[in-house]
Amino acid sequence: MIDAVQVCERLAVVRERIARAGGVDVHLMGVTKTWGIDAVRAAAAAGCDSVGENYAQELATKFAGETGLPQVHFIGRLQTNKVRLVAPFVDVYETVDRGSLAAELAKRTPGATVLVQVSPDADPDKGGCALDGVSALVESCSGLGLVVAGLMTVGPTEGGPEAARPGFRAVRALVDRLGLAVCSMGMSDDLEVAVQEGSTQVRVGSALFGPRTATATRDRVPPPHAE
Ligand SMILES: *Cc1c(COP(=O)(O)O)cnc(C)c1O
Repeated sequence: MIDAVQVCERLAVVRERIARAGGVDVHLMGVTKTWGIDAVRAAAAAGCDSVGENYAQELATKFAGETGLPQVHFIGRLQTNKVRLVAPFVDVYETVDRGSLAAELAKRTPGATVLVQVSPDADPDKGGCALDGVSALVESCSGLGLVVAGLMTVGPTEGGPEAARPGFRAVRALVDRLGLAVCSMGMSDDLEVAVQEGSTQVRVGSALFGPRTATATRDRVPPPHAE
């Protein structure tokens, strides 16, 4: 169960953490994966700048028929055959990491705003384009008519927040070199390091909504063929 007042209080804590890390005008995304539409509403009411979703089917089920949604960002791995499913709901695609996905987006949702996902440590599990391929991918996205607003990255899962610093620094340097605006990096556990390294957008889930549990997924997101 989402407690909207608690989300507001937690959001104030997150904003304070961002400010103490030196962040100014940092876009704050509420990551609502595994939570229901009540989390999306609570995020919007609390003043999140957008919500982020990871799973195509979950997103489409959750948002079908909903109106007055906040800005929606897709932040999970995206299969090309799922683009059509999510396109009606998504405002920004943050995980473009290959030409085939860029081509599918250009076809299904021409002129869409995208970020190129970068994997500074070339971890195949997380997705993302290796540093030395980013410039070419940005160019091909632009050539396809997509609007590349910036770059996105996910810090390593091991090693604590400091382990993310070198990768964050490299991604920010690339954002600057390519003359882009958006640098999407930092989550609940590493947002200070991300902001210190120049993040313009943090993606925060558990620090706003609490820990994600399998129960939350089962209770709140009916499988596509339920009902
Ligand atoms: C789940 C997720 C987040 C939020 O993670 P928390 O640790 O809950 O803040 C941010 N970014 C991406 C890409 C995610 O998959």
